[in-house]
Amino acid sequence: MLWSFLFLNLSDKVKYVFIKERMFEVVKPFSAIQRNTYLDEMQQEELDLLVIGGGITGAGIALDASVRGLSTGLIEMQDFAAGTSSRSTKLVHGGLRYLKQFEVKLVAEVGKERAIVYENAPHVTSPEWMLLPIMKGGTFGKLSTSVGLKAYDKLAGVKRNERRSMLNKKTTLEKAPLLRKEGLKGSGIYVEYKTDDARLTLEIMKEAVHRGTKATNYTKAESLLYNEAGKVIGAKVKDLVTGKTFDIKAKRVVNAAGPWVDDLREIDGSKKGKFLYLTKGVHLVIDQSRFPLKQAVYFDTEDDGRMVFAIPRDGKTYVGTTDTYYDGRIASPRMTQEDLDYILDAANYMFPSLKLEEKDVESSWAGLRPLIHEEGKSASEISRKDETFISDSGLISIAGGKLTGYRKMAQRIVDMVAKDVGVKGKCTTDKIVLSGGDVGGSNGLESFKKEQIKVGMDLGLDKKEAEKLVKLYGSNVKRVFEIMETSGEEAKHFHMPKSLYASLVYGLEEEMTTTPLDFFNRRTASLFFDIHWVKEWKVQVVNYMAYRLHWTSEQRDRYVEELEREMAYAMNPEEKVNA
Ligand SMILES: Cc1cc2nc3c(=O)[nH]c(=O)nc-3n(C[C@H](O)[C@H](O)[C@H](O)COP(=O)(O)OP(=O)(O)OC[C@H]3O[C@@H](n4cnc5c(N)ncnc54)[C@H](O)[C@@H]3O)c2cc1C
Repeated sequence: MLWSFLFLNLSDKVKYVFIKERMFEVVKPFSAIQRNTYLDEMQQEELDLLVIGGGITGAGIALDASVRGLSTGLIEMQDFAAGTSSRSTKLVHGGLRYLKQFEVKLVAEVGKERAIVYENAPHVTSPEWMLLPIMKGGTFGKLSTSVGLKAYDKLAGVKRNERRSMLNKKTTLEKAPLLRKEGLKGSGIYVEYKTDDARLTLEIMKEAVHRGTKATNYTKAESLLYNEAGKVIGAKVKDLVTGKTFDIKAKRVVNAAGPWVDDLREIDGSKKGKFLYLTKGVHLVIDQSRFPLKQAVYFDTEDDGRMVFAIPRDGKTYVGTTDTYYDGRIASPRMTQEDLDYILDAANYMFPSLKLEEKDVESSWAGLRPLIHEEGKSASEISRKDETFISDSGLISIAGGKLTGYRKMAQRIVDMVAKDVGVKGKCTTDKIVLSGGDVGGSNGLESFKKEQIKVGMDLGLDKKEAEKLVKLYGSNVKRVFEIMETSGEEAKHFHMPKSLYASLVYGLEEEMTTTPLDFFNRRTASLFFDIHWVKEWKVQVVNYMAYRLHWTSEQRDRYVEELEREMAYAMNPEEKVNA
């Protein structure tokens, strides 16, 4: 109280110094304020491993390598997860539909991985019952759905209480009353896991950093370094924030650049044989007031029989995805009018009473699948399994795969690298709890949440706000609450609610939030699931970040322009924004 009183009565200049002091106190290992230090450190030693790409694949590799004791660096040219890893369907799943293509091994591996991801990061992964309607003339009949789901349960080693069951038409409609009644014969129901792909990637990244990885975002590998024997020994890197370039040396270099994997293979002169085939997937977000879906549904489209998800989340329903060949700018795939119409048509077919229109779409995202080209196959038919390429120079490239299978992909790569650099030790990441996941395992999650929501409410938050923070940060919410508790009147000074202020400070100091878009997209997912909140608070967030990160006015304008642009593309088809 006294502190608050004194703070409020200080002049603005003194307040500034006061807050600045706090900034000097806080030196955390993954702070946007300390980016330069990490970059300096990476230049000073020869690393065992340099990972290029901070999506889930790169983050997983860095974590496994650091756990095994390899000195590891990771560079990401955008924000962590800004590539495909923030643009997926956001499911940790076995990929039921791949059974249709007899991808038994893939389904078994990623299916089993679901349980591990859930146990190690229950705060970002939650079970979601998925309903598979059986329609007259649809892809699956009653028998094939029942057999398919049973095979899925077996292959993925699904827990007894999460195994599939079959429902008749009446019970199906009780669960999902919005479903099309005409032609509906019943359904199968089974469990998938919902996640926040970007936050899952970040939690892996943070865990890797806590275990020794040096990592920075906005750091691009512009070219590769070679020794006289033509072996790759590092990368020439550009810090896209300061414009400085420097070399990072490493015994092994892994190219985990997702849709950009072939760009680096080209730089390495090793893009031969198999190559990437990029397909675009779009999702739309609609408010629950217009699409009040309570039960996730995975259904056939009327047009081409592809399968589409409709999933309730945080007061919204999201629907997707498309799957079309893409050869545009990799960094910025956009929703087109055709994508939007395709998804709305699919949703209106399966949920005919809704009569959804373009104006109901609040937000959207588009991502690129880095698939491996297969002659004569359409986008949906190409396998989702991962492949590793090792070039003559020793560059290790990994592409394809699924978010869900990240840990196994990492294990394969690090097994190889560890052997090469002479580090013994097996992969143990199946037992490593990710950052924020220290909540007593999946069984402990509910009581942890209850307890922490109470802590948040005692700090003056309403239940909804407290719940939001606990869900977002898992066990790290304790740190977020600590910031709230110790920051006195700072939030008020920057005209923000305390919960937003604490999230932002935590993001800057402990999650390397470097731009406003990092915060609104990859740190909080609000660009997709709460775009009104972004509109409400963007000015305050920009002001605070500009102050903490000492932006020039040019930097500030650039970041504001980037946020406005991405908001426009999230809310509208590309053609309308470009018109
Ligand atoms: C529409 C869609 C839906 C999907 N749904 C699911 C799902 O529900 N469940 C699931 O398990 N999987 C899903 N996937 C697949 C999953 O999202 C991807 O397999 C995964 O995110 C790929 O991660 P990545 O790290 O390999 O690539 P990315 O996330 O793209 O990461 C690569 C990173 O490398 C960086 N980079 C590139 N070049 C350089 C350079 N020169 N220097 C520094 N950095 C560089 C990029 O900026 C990028 O961030 C989906 C994919 C799509 C497109």
